Amino acid sequence: MTVPTALSAPVRPAGTLASPARPGSEGARRRPVAEQVLLYGFVVGPFLALLVGIGLAVAGHGISLLDAVLAVVFYAVSGLGVTVGYHRLLTHGSFKARRPLRVALAIGGSMSVEGDVVQWVADHRRHHQFSDRDGDPHSPWRFGTSPRAVLKGLWWAHTGWLFDREQSSKARYAPDLLADKDIAVVHRLFPLWVTVSVLAPPLIAFAVTGGSWLAAGSALLWASAVRILLLHHVTWSINSICHAVGEQRFQTRDRSTNVWPLSVLSFGESWHNWHHADPTSARHGVDKFQFDSSARLIALFEWLGWVSDVRWPRKERLAAKRA
Ligand SMILES: [Zn+2]
Ligand SMILES: [Zn+2]
Repeated sequence: MTVPTALSAPVRPAGTLASPARPGSEGARRRPVAEQVLLYGFVVGPFLALLVGIGLAVAGHGISLLDAVLAVVFYAVSGLGVTVGYHRLLTHGSFKARRPLRVALAIGGSMSVEGDVVQWVADHRRHHQFSDRDGDPHSPWRFGTSPRAVLKGLWWAHTGWLFDREQSSKARYAPDLLADKDIAVVHRLFPLWVTVSVLAPPLIAFAVTGGSWLAAGSALLWASAVRILLLHHVTWSINSICHAVGEQRFQTRDRSTNVWPLSVLSFGESWHNWHHADPTSARHGVDKFQFDSSARLIALFEWLGWVSDVRWPRKERLAAKRA
């Protein structure tokens, strides 16, 4: 797989990030209205579901053990699909995976309901090309560095950018994936993976409880909607919080940081400072006590012989990049 690398962007002074024709979206399609409406539904819907869930919990109908188990399993499958599949494998080529695993990881990532695999990868490669400069799809520094501008920028980096109809160009940023027959099929079937992600928990709950509609409804609420909500906001926190506050141990040309409280829920992705220092590294949590479950899973796959050419961080490179 050829991953576009060594892309560079001109530095612009703070406060000038927003420009009419933004680099990286030239020639890309504008998101159609129908998709825009669906997008709003998938961002606002789970939030409303959480409010309903809280109301029901207060009224004495809380989350069941079955809901919790389903939520954890689907959170892990879709979350690791994003971190190990969408991100470390397909965006950065941190390792090579056998065909069935590569397809499974792309499907798992699609089940996060964070967009189709090719668009996700295109947005993320563009983020690395321009990180915190003009063209970055989601920099919290887009509007400047005053407290007001940073607050606005944090909202933009966390959620606002999703609604920008001007998209990153798939042809420019992910030509390798568009040409990959397996990924093209996963890409085309994105609506199916979203449907599976939403409907599998209630169907499983219905079957396990011998046909309880109440159990199905409860699983739909907690293991589908609230689980999707949590993963969305954890992922988006990497774009917002991990480019604004936290620790910088390595030299990068952007403002990426390490934020330990997010490390478990984000499967190690919040060790974001090293990730920007060395984007193809299969491990993001490189220092002592920096737990990185995505890297552990890649190591397990390597031990099983399912992945190869894993780019583990090298000592010399770590030392050279230390701030
Ligand atoms: Zn970043
Ligand atoms: Zn990345």
